[in-house]
Amino acid sequence: MSETFEFQAEISQLLSLIINTVYSNKEIFLREIISNSSDALDKIRYESLSDPSKLDSGKDLRIDIIPDKENKTLTIRDTGIGMTKADLINNLGTIARSGTKQFMEALSAGADISMIGQFGVGFYSAYLVADRVTVISKHNDDEQYIWESAAGGTFTLTQDTEGEQLGRGTKMIFHLKDEQTEYLQESRIKEVVRKHSEFISYPIYLHVLKETEKEVPDEDAETTKEEEEGDEKKPKIEEVDDEEEEKKEKKTKTIKESKIEEEELNKTKPIWTRNPADITEEEYAAFYKSLSNDWEDHLAVKHFSVEGQLEFRAILYVPKRAPFDLFETKKTKNNIKLYVRRVFITDDATDLIPEWLSFIKGVVDSEDLPLNLSRETLQQNKIMKVIKKNIVKKTLELFTEIAEDREQFDKFYSAFSKNIKLGIHEDAQNRNTLAKLLRYQSTKSGDETTSLADYVTRMKEHQKQIYYITGESIKAVAKSPFLDSLKQKDFEVLFLVDPIDEYAFTQLKEFDGKKLVDITKDFELEETDEEKAEREKEEKEYESLAKSLKNILGDKVEKVVVSHKLIGSPCAIRTGQFGWSANMERIMKAQALRDTSMSSYMSSKKTFEISPKSPIVQELKKKVEADGESDRTVKSITQLLYETSLLVSGFTIDEPASFAERIHKLVSLGLNIDEEPEVAEVSTEETPAAATAGENAMEEVD
Ligand code: ADP
Repeated sequence: MSETFEFQAEISQLLSLIINTVYSNKEIFLREIISNSSDALDKIRYESLSDPSKLDSGKDLRIDIIPDKENKTLTIRDTGIGMTKADLINNLGTIARSGTKQFMEALSAGADISMIGQFGVGFYSAYLVADRVTVISKHNDDEQYIWESAAGGTFTLTQDTEGEQLGRGTKMIFHLKDEQTEYLQESRIKEVVRKHSEFISYPIYLHVLKETEKEVPDEDAETTKEEEEGDEKKPKIEEVDDEEEEKKEKKTKTIKESKIEEEELNKTKPIWTRNPADITEEEYAAFYKSLSNDWEDHLAVKHFSVEGQLEFRAILYVPKRAPFDLFETKKTKNNIKLYVRRVFITDDATDLIPEWLSFIKGVVDSEDLPLNLSRETLQQNKIMKVIKKNIVKKTLELFTEIAEDREQFDKFYSAFSKNIKLGIHEDAQNRNTLAKLLRYQSTKSGDETTSLADYVTRMKEHQKQIYYITGESIKAVAKSPFLDSLKQKDFEVLFLVDPIDEYAFTQLKEFDGKKLVDITKDFELEETDEEKAEREKEEKEYESLAKSLKNILGDKVEKVVVSHKLIGSPCAIRTGQFGWSANMERIMKAQALRDTSMSSYMSSKKTFEISPKSPIVQELKKKVEADGESDRTVKSITQLLYETSLLVSGFTIDEPASFAERIHKLVSLGLNIDEEPEVAEVSTEETPAAATAGENAMEEVD
């Protein structure tokens, strides 16, 4: 009795896309299927480490490739973990995977079908070459089942009581399309396996039809000749000739006998056990691809061994691109495969590498860990801790090597700078090494970027601190009034415009013994004695203005101060050293699920700074002295200056409508429009009279 199931809608769509494609590089299906078999073998081996009886159904862990020219089928069989009935239904068709949709989107954006493995839907690549696929599978916990589908929206499932019983594992039969029969040829299969599956750590056996010669009594010489005619190859003719004399004497003839031989296709020993000096770049690249499913070469590689108290070998790779799901929170899998004395243990040892390095791919082979490790003991294990520490160290060495080549480093940085910054935030021990990798645009870098080390070389003699400004974009920070005094002193300022930058810099605190200073916050600027004297004089002069402005603004600001750090700009809003910066406040507001209780103590304490060098402030001082702080114009101007300062300092305005109204009033003034007193008041209701007045005014302007 077979049951019919419908493919999940997106999978169905993907299948018809695959089955109908004119894509030429179809050979990759073999890599995907063999890679699935290898994963299935990994799983049963891992389970058997803690429960050896799991292998009772078959101890041999292997993959077999069986071409059948007569029936035009190619069969791949493994003795892996197998699939239960539920697994077959879920894994091969009914449960949507995030990668399905993403892969189709990638395809329509020009991606290549060979990328399929990265999106976790590699099995379906079988339909590049087959119009029907039969999967027979036996899991230790269930009976043997047959899954079958010719795409077209459905698949069937039948219990398999009559067919050959597998014991354990999976047999996939691909009914090849007429134009894809090249995958039945021995030489073609060998070529593809060599190219894509060389590093599979289980033996792959190709079943080949071997013809051997045999001496039998000669009864009818003619028949022998005819038989020979149909042969593709005629090997060993010379040998036959050598024996000719003997043959005549004994009256025997040579006939060919065919029998199936199993030829192992991947006999190379694990690449990480070899001497790095003997391994070519191509071999590293091939191994990387087999490990990562990536279609592109790696960006950089580090192959090393650690000896002494503890022994292990490892190969670590940096990819060229970040994976599509790099910062997906649900994803826990790391990309380092753990082996113990050449035996694969797991690719799920979360304690092998910190999360911020989750993009690193590779293998680690330990000599010291016990084979029967459970997931829990792995986490506690001291050896694992030491291995992890070494992996981080070597990875950092690799990054530093990449940094020596500008072009390579640019690629690396654009893909993984967020990881570096996350590392600075999380890894106190390696913070300083990581900080050397940071690159920023600055007031002196132009379109290029600078490292902190280069910044230090450009520091002025009397400059003690490293300055940076935080904000939403280069455009937003490049003309900030906060830059004024630093530019005047010729101090360089770094532009930090990635949301994670501020987190990283807050943890980093200093570089090369120099304090990192956010210039949008309160800070002490290096000054000469003359500058100090001038500042103190100005502070005195403008003290009463500052007081008046504070009275006008009330609780909106913490305090109003006379600033020597602003020059041309009349005013700005600076935040306290320990609260959030304007930039951080913006980031926090954007986080939908944030805990609002934090904002009461962290939200920025605003200091309104006024510059005595600005003509606006100078005139305002005179006006306040003449008309007093309760004068309507004085109030209105103060309010406007405050609001424009909010904007220019990276804050948002709480009441944009009132702000707009004040600006419109100014515009009206500029256009010589006589406004009715009621209209000038902040009010949202528009009276017909006001509208008419506005129209008349416009006419006057014309
Ligand atoms: P991926 O292997 O990336 O998860 P696939 O589409 O290639 O995606 O395979 C889907 C799932 O089907 C696998 O995750 C695995 O659970 C199951 N599967 C595929 N091939 C085999 C196999 N040979 N043995 C056991 N399970 C398999």
